[in-house]
Amino acid sequence: MKYFSKSKGVVKLNFPMSKLTWFQTGGKAQVLFIPENRLDLHLFLKSFKEKKLINIIGGCSNLLVRDGGVKGVIVKLGSGFDFINFESDHIICGASVKNINLSNKMAKKSIRGFEFLSTIPGTIGGSIFMNSGCFGSEIKNLIKSVIVMNKNGDLKELEKEQINFKYRSSGINKNYFIIAAKLKKNKGSKIAIKKKIKKYVNLRKKTQPNKVLTGGSTFTNPERKKAWKLIKDSGCENMIVGGAKISDKHCNFLVNTGHANSKDLENLGNKIRSKVFKETGEKLNWEIKRIGIR
Ligand SMILES: Cc1cc2nc3c(=O)[nH]c(=O)nc-3n(C[C@H](O)[C@H](O)[C@H](O)COP(=O)(O)OP(=O)(O)OC[C@H]3O[C@@H](n4cnc5c(N)ncnc54)[C@H](O)[C@@H]3O)c2cc1C
Repeated sequence: MKYFSKSKGVVKLNFPMSKLTWFQTGGKAQVLFIPENRLDLHLFLKSFKEKKLINIIGGCSNLLVRDGGVKGVIVKLGSGFDFINFESDHIICGASVKNINLSNKMAKKSIRGFEFLSTIPGTIGGSIFMNSGCFGSEIKNLIKSVIVMNKNGDLKELEKEQINFKYRSSGINKNYFIIAAKLKKNKGSKIAIKKKIKKYVNLRKKTQPNKVLTGGSTFTNPERKKAWKLIKDSGCENMIVGGAKISDKHCNFLVNTGHANSKDLENLGNKIRSKVFKETGEKLNWEIKRIGIR
């Protein structure tokens, strides 16, 4: 606890991660630390020497925390990282801002390009780390630079060209915590922006599960192929492990039917991978990040 003595943030011991994950599963975090601001985070990172025992989370919408819990400290950025500032030629957005809040704010200010984010759960930090995208857009297209803090507590600004954005990956080093981003400010028509958001939200409701406990796409799409189609064509649709099943609406989404644990979900994912490999020779890669002890 000495690491947090100067901190204004919140520190919780043995925190059940199922309270935060979209799957509502997962064991306890030995320590959950919610730094209130940059200084809080800096002071903790400067003093805590076991860097391997520090993990960061955003909205936990693409995350499976294993049932055995997570050793060390899980950092969740607090209120001082939840800001959107409008500068003359760009926007600065804190990493804990929710995607939907950023998208709505941009619509209000008639700034285009952020419409797709209203349908992706999670935070800007998580979305940049994952290079989230849908409807033909990816967050990398909105970025000018990303402000990170390394695990020693030092700040650095990474220009977009220095970041190796790829499909569902930013390539940002695991030793960096994203704390804010400078975003593009392209003016558009407020009516057109709002119309686009409505269209995307409706499309999403039709094609993907909502109001269920899920962690989004389970596997990334292999080149020129769709993971959901490979899963369907391999005959996995009705697979069940414990309380975990495949969504009826979208084969690449796993669902906690109410009594699944993380082991059920991970085992179901691995069962799907084996079947798809056996049937098609295609190796699916996990998009969902998995942390913790089995
Ligand atoms: C119903 C549903 C639909 C979804 N649809 C889409 C979709 O259409 N497109 C898409 O791309 N994704 C989709 N997702 C997945 C998910 O919403 C995105 O990947 C999201 O942006 C993750 O953000 P998060 O804040 O929840 O990150 P988390 O799930 O908390 O974390 C994901 C990863 O990012 C890292 N991370 C989080 N914050 C930071 C930070 N500040 N600095 C460094 N690393 C960080 C974590 O360590 C972890 O490795 C969907 C998920 C759900 C549940």
